[in-house]
Amino acid sequence: MQGNRLLLSPGIVLAGGIVAATAWLVALLFFDITDETGLILAGASGAIGGLGGMIGALWQNYTTRHTQEYIAQQEHQAKHDPLTGLFNRNALFSELETSIARAKQTDTVLGVLFLDLDRFKVINDSMGHEAGDDLLRIVAERLEGTVRGGDLVARFGGDEFVVVCRDLLSEQSVLAVAKQILKSFTEPVSLYGGAQVISTSIGVAIARPDDTRRSDDLVRDADAAMYKAKKAKSGYAVFDEVQRLQVIDRLDIERDLVQALEQEQLVVFYQPLIDVKAKRLYGFEALVRWNHPTRGLIGPGDFLGVAEETGMMAKIGELVLREACAQAAVWNHLSPDAQGVKMGVNIAEQQLLDGNFPYLVADVLEWSGLPAEQLVLEITENVIVDHLAGLSVLRDIRELGVSLAIDDFGTGQSSLSYIKQFDMVSTLKVDKTFVDDMSSGVNRAIIEAVVAMARALDMQVVAEGVESEHQVKELLDFGVHIMQGYLFNKPVAGETIDPASWFSAREGELAIEVSEALDPTTPGLSSTEVSRAFTRTLDHTRARPKRMG
Ligand code: C2E
Ligand code: MG
Ligand code: MG
Repeated sequence: MQGNRLLLSPGIVLAGGIVAATAWLVALLFFDITDETGLILAGASGAIGGLGGMIGALWQNYTTRHTQEYIAQQEHQAKHDPLTGLFNRNALFSELETSIARAKQTDTVLGVLFLDLDRFKVINDSMGHEAGDDLLRIVAERLEGTVRGGDLVARFGGDEFVVVCRDLLSEQSVLAVAKQILKSFTEPVSLYGGAQVISTSIGVAIARPDDTRRSDDLVRDADAAMYKAKKAKSGYAVFDEVQRLQVIDRLDIERDLVQALEQEQLVVFYQPLIDVKAKRLYGFEALVRWNHPTRGLIGPGDFLGVAEETGMMAKIGELVLREACAQAAVWNHLSPDAQGVKMGVNIAEQQLLDGNFPYLVADVLEWSGLPAEQLVLEITENVIVDHLAGLSVLRDIRELGVSLAIDDFGTGQSSLSYIKQFDMVSTLKVDKTFVDDMSSGVNRAIIEAVVAMARALDMQVVAEGVESEHQVKELLDFGVHIMQGYLFNKPVAGETIDPASWFSAREGELAIEVSEALDPTTPGLSSTEVSRAFTRTLDHTRARPKRMG
């Protein structure tokens, strides 16, 4: 449309000229005109042509101006965030590239600050999205008011902002800007008439003139430093050498993990849960390990985070689920006493968000032949609270006859009231932090409350991370009798577990060992002896179901 308008104005000039010339020609050829009339006609057509030209020129001027405004407006929209008016993510990267080049030319230091608002989600959820938007606009204004004229402020997305400090002479100046921003946040924000205290965590990446990092590297590093600041609650943190190595390490893990899945380097270990009162094995928890070709055995804490970020969690989760169900089914086959034993499998957030997950569970149960009542899916408290709306998946799983346990109970948002909605949860696993310090009055009160509630709602309570006989005694006093911990056994490979001793033959002996170990007046058995009762191994070769495609 703009292009048409541009073509129109020279067209009008031309049309004016053509009209004049045609009139003159027609007059000459077809009419008997005197010289005077000819002159008048010539004058008139000249005037018409001139007028056409003038209109054309004016039109062209008008359309050009409007076109330029339109183009400028389009360019502005492409580069700016509509909510705050700050540079958007794309513009940030291109401006940062230019700034990096300039810093090298002028031999100056460049600072990239990555900000993430603390508790923004809480404000957004509790006060509504409009309040959230207002807050983001206020933060944008504050940032622009705090940084120097030559600096650049961008909204990276959500509640994340990036500030680029340019033309600095020293690294200290970058830190000064970070401190200045933190100071500007100390003043409360007025939202819907109420004063809200907001805070932010800032990650700082500093580029000296000889730095070889590109714009995306600097933003990534500042982001990593922001996580460090958030974790340490330190306000700001600077990306350093240690973190650089961690980032490289993380990238290595990400690359190797793809291979790990292809080459079956992931293995499942099993840790027993003991019913100390009934003096028997209650169940197992399946825990994934990575048999890394050069690093050795790696625990889940070192790679599951990367798996979640890179979307590999669903595959890993399925592998563990299949492996654990197959293992439990094999044990059922080898020992009739294994049939009442539960198999707990941890389920990650990504798996639960997939509506097809219940079908996968049903498929794995059918494939492995494991009765649904033996499978317990462990889900952490925060995942459940965050996805109250998506609970139909949990309900579908429950309908299969599979039980659900809330893992690390007490460490999350711990709103006991929401548990009531979960008539489908059968077990609460009290987190190790409470078991670790039962001398604390608060912890004691929490354990007592959890046990009372579980009793009222007909749920099982499992204590995690039991390491001493003293803890066993205290937990029994609280009424908790199912326990899991290094006192009994560390997680071990499936093939080291001998069904003959674990599920049946050893049961009587185990009863004596545990109860004696609990009685401080008799020499009894040491915790290592108790645990040996569970780890006694036999070289055991057996057939396993083959994994389906
Ligand atoms: P979790 O589900 O709470 O598992 C219990 C963790 O506590 C295990 O750590 C276990 O080895 C450890 N533990 C048990 N008893 C003791 C004790 O007495 N003392 C101490 N210090 N630790 C004890 P692990 O195997 O490193 O697993 C850590 C977490 O990784 C698990 O916590 C679980 O959240 C996650 N995880 C492990 N395997 C999987 C998996 O297959 N899928 C998913 N989604 N998460 C998994
Ligand atoms: Mg667990
Ligand atoms: Mg746990």
